[in-house]
Amino acid sequence: MRALFIALAGVAAAGVAASGNAASGAAREGPKMPHVSWQPEAPRQGDPLLLELRAGGSVQRVRGRFLGRRVEFFRWGPGRWRALAPIPAGTRPDRHRLRLTLWDASGRRRTLTRSIGVAEADFPTSELSVDPKFTRPPAAVRPRIRRERRRIRRAWQDTGPTRWWRAPFLRPLKSPRTSVFGVRRLFNGKLRSRHNGVDLDGKIGDPIRATNHGRVVLAGDLYYTGRCVFIDHGYGLFSVYFHMTDLRVKEGEVVHKGQIIGTVGESGRVTGPHLHFGIKLLGAYVDPERLLALDFGPEVAPDPVAAAAPGNGVPAAGGGAPPQASEAVGGSASE
Ligand SMILES: [Zn+2]
Repeated sequence: MRALFIALAGVAAAGVAASGNAASGAAREGPKMPHVSWQPEAPRQGDPLLLELRAGGSVQRVRGRFLGRRVEFFRWGPGRWRALAPIPAGTRPDRHRLRLTLWDASGRRRTLTRSIGVAEADFPTSELSVDPKFTRPPAAVRPRIRRERRRIRRAWQDTGPTRWWRAPFLRPLKSPRTSVFGVRRLFNGKLRSRHNGVDLDGKIGDPIRATNHGRVVLAGDLYYTGRCVFIDHGYGLFSVYFHMTDLRVKEGEVVHKGQIIGTVGESGRVTGPHLHFGIKLLGAYVDPERLLALDFGPEVAPDPVAAAAPGNGVPAAGGGAPPQASEAVGGSASE
């Protein structure tokens, strides 16, 4: 199955590349291959970085390394590869090296490097009136908190090389933002914590929608986050939704973009109803609004939920290969 997929994708890519060269004047000039680009063009701390490689049809696999993380690329149409990589909020504002490794069909490998400048994000600060160490939860709930931390850690492991998401990402709640990503919480001038998502205003019971297609890897009622949902979108990308009133999905369920997954509430450690919406990418939180703002251009792959689980909501065993296979076919057809 795997071999067939590679062979099909290879043939399709070669065909499209040839006709593309014949048809367009721009192609005659020949874009310098391989070509690496990224968005935002001038990234800053807390950004999700959309990387793109144009490398022609012979490349079979691409892997990157950026800010100490391994970044696996996925196909985005013939000869095109993409990946999302995090720039954690605490990244040093400086130039950082992106290293790409490209494999061709015979297993030959070459590497490329680029230097990407990261600007300072100027996160707002808020001064805490009480040192967090004096607001520790009572001893009785600490075992529960430890159990929940383990459960969350397991959920972060539950991802794989299936791209469930389809461009673009949706805002889960159409209401004003009440707190931005990255707010630095200081006590006596020292950084104690950081706001690792955005808060969206809402009334109890307002419907919350999945930002994209994915698989629910955690749905439960936890001490800090209250009633919450964690969705894996593939390739290490997760969205999280906290403090809900009720949950409309279960762990293991495949959800589609825009599906109602729960309602606004004030469960967990909060002072009023709102949605905390977070995006975690390869182990680091990034600014959800910067993910929503990325311009992916036209999506190249068909809807993975329709393909994997007809009738919706039926879990595809093990995350499933169908979206991968159909992705390659759809990609070649649409360019
Ligand atoms: Zn929040």
